[in-house]
This record gives sequence, C-alpha cells and structure tokens, in this order.
Amino acid sequence: MIPYFNLRRAHSPYIKEFTDALRRVAESGRYLLGDETNAFEREYARYTGTRHAICCGNGLDALTLILRSYIELGEIKEDSEVIVPANTFIATILAITECHLHPILIEPHPETFQIDETLIEKAITSRTSALMIVHLYGHCAYHEEIGRISRKYGLPVIEDNAQAHGCLYGTQRTGSLAQAAGHSFYPGKNLGAMGDGGAVTTNDDELATMVRTLGNYGAQKKYDFSFKGRNSRMDELQAAVLRIKLRHLDQCNRRRIAIAKRYIEEVHNPFIRMPQKDYLNNNVFHIFPTMSPERTQLQTFLKDNGVETLIHYPIPPHKQRCYKEMSHLSLPITEQIHREELSLPCNESLTEEEVSEIISLLNIFTPEKRVSL
Ligand SMILES: *Cc1c(COP(=O)(O)O)cnc(C)c1O
Repeated sequence: MIPYFNLRRAHSPYIKEFTDALRRVAESGRYLLGDETNAFEREYARYTGTRHAICCGNGLDALTLILRSYIELGEIKEDSEVIVPANTFIATILAITECHLHPILIEPHPETFQIDETLIEKAITSRTSALMIVHLYGHCAYHEEIGRISRKYGLPVIEDNAQAHGCLYGTQRTGSLAQAAGHSFYPGKNLGAMGDGGAVTTNDDELATMVRTLGNYGAQKKYDFSFKGRNSRMDELQAAVLRIKLRHLDQCNRRRIAIAKRYIEEVHNPFIRMPQKDYLNNNVFHIFPTMSPERTQLQTFLKDNGVETLIHYPIPPHKQRCYKEMSHLSLPITEQIHREELSLPCNESLTEEEVSEIISLLNIFTPEKRVSL
C-alpha cells in the first residue's frame, strides 16, 4: 500500500535528533513557556520574515486569537462581517463564528481553488471589518487586488497559513504578506509537530502583545487580568520537535514541488482534471488536488491498486449541519470542488518509484460506463 502520508517514514531520518531534544526537555524541568518555545518563536519569525511569532495551542486558536485581539483593540467591531473563501477547512469559519462575527463566503476560481479576488469588492458593506484569506492546499492565495482593497477600505487582511508553511510569494513568505497570520502545526501539515501546536505571526507590535495576553488568560502581568482570555500554549516538547523540523522544511517542500511537477507533466487522462502548469508557482503542495466527476470510481480504482487518497473536503462549510444558517447559500463552484476533489499522495516520504506507480495508474484509469436509470 502506498499511504497518503506516512509520518513514521517521514520522521525516520530525524529520530535521533528528536530523542536528543525530547531528553533535553525532559531533563530541563520546564515544560511550558520555556527556552524551546522562545527559541522556536524567534526562529519561526525569522524564517517567515515577521517581527513576531507567538506560539499557541493549535491553528484554530491562532486564527481565533487574531480576531479576538482585533476586537479588543477596537479594529474589528463586534457582530461585524469577515470576508472569507467559501471552500476551506471548517476551522477558518469556526474562528470567525467563535468570535461572534459573520462569515461572508466568496466563491473561488475553479482552476486555482483560491478566493476569486474580483468578487471581494462587491461583497464589502458598511459592516465588513476584515478579510481572511486561506492559502488552501499550500498554494498562495494572496493577490495584489487583495492588498489594494485592504488599503482602500482600511480592512486588515488575515492569512490562514495552516497549509502553506514556507510558501513563497516573490521573495516573501506566506505568513508575512498581510497584517497577521495563523499557522497550524498539526502533525499532517507541511510543518507538523507530534501533537497540536499553532502560532500567530505579525509585524504589528500591539497585535502581538494582545495575542500573547489573550492566550495567557488575558493577563498582562501575572494574576492581573485585563481581558477575559483563554489558555492556549505550546508544549516545550512540541517546540523542540518543530525547531528540528523547521530546519528541514524547505527541503521537504522542494520534494513536494518536484512530485507535483511530475504529476502535472506526466498524467494525461480525460477523466481526471489536473491543475495547470502555473499552479506550480507560489505553492508548497500541502495537498495535490485532482478533480474528477468520477471521483468515487477513481478513488476505488486507486485503492484496489494499493494507493491511498483523501478528499479535501467532502462537505463545504455552508452545507455542514452546524451551519444551518448558511445552508440556503448557493455556491456552485465550491460545491463542485467538494464533489470532485481527490488528493493524491504528495510528500517527502514517497519514493520516485511510488510516484511513477501512481502516475501509471492515473494514466490507465477509465470509469466504467454508468447504467442510466
Ligand atoms: C488545519 C487547518 C486549520 C486548523 O488547525 P488546527 O491546528 O488543526 O487547529 C485551520 N485552517 C486550515 C485551512 C487548516 O487546514
């Protein structure tokens, strides 16, 4: 079986480094808010190209802490609207609704799956308070037009960078393109810990202080609570693991890009829609998406031939039972993506032979004729 992402195999070159680091933490006696977290924050901020990186419990917390900080700072009004892509992982939308803000869902481009920047301005009302963009599948969603709209209307842009650690836009990395960014270090992300972890990056000193305060119970000084905060911290053990993996991130991303390039150049099948060649730009391929109206048959065919694939994601947020208030929305591009998307294995743990095997299978797939009813 070629697994979708075998973390055991991906981690095997670093086991010695990991055990040394875990021992160092175990022996230090300090398990939260210590040297490892401080060092990772410095290293990750430098890597991303921002003044601040603030660690927190997970990616959802990172996004939520940014929005709550803007509310406390008076930059985002309570009960206001946040413009966001309709096709994203649920956590992006949950962060918005957790802060009692209203997500305004925007359709994506069908070729890049990224927010269609030409639809944003039409969605702005007097209640709009922020734009949230998602570097979905590891592909940079930023567009000059988004910067122009942000400046014209004075709206902060927040990046959901849970899927695109290390992705370049020109010479800048995602996570440094806008006012603030939320990162997730869930194990399966391009930069993943051995459990949960997250971070906020920003160049805004005030925002950074507020994120740190709200993630620490709302305390500006010990036992002095100015805000009703929450507890969201990263373990020293996770920070130690992330420091090691950060040193290998660019190399892992290069491997993902090389595999994606092979898929795009070598797969030719009228029943499978592959991304276009320019999808290789500004991309670190957290997910390699293919589209097929025959998705179920394709997934079964690959599985029967020993290849594991995943669907990102089977149901869009506005069709989830928890968001009944959005179920009336009609978002045909988003809905089609959720109906047709199938993700191929695309990560550093794959061998060249495995990639060749997957390509051969994709090239011989033909759907069985469907019986018309
Ligand atoms: C993974 C993910 C998150 C949430 O991260 P967690 O660490 O799992 O909370 C948010 N947004 C997107 C797009 C993600 O893929």
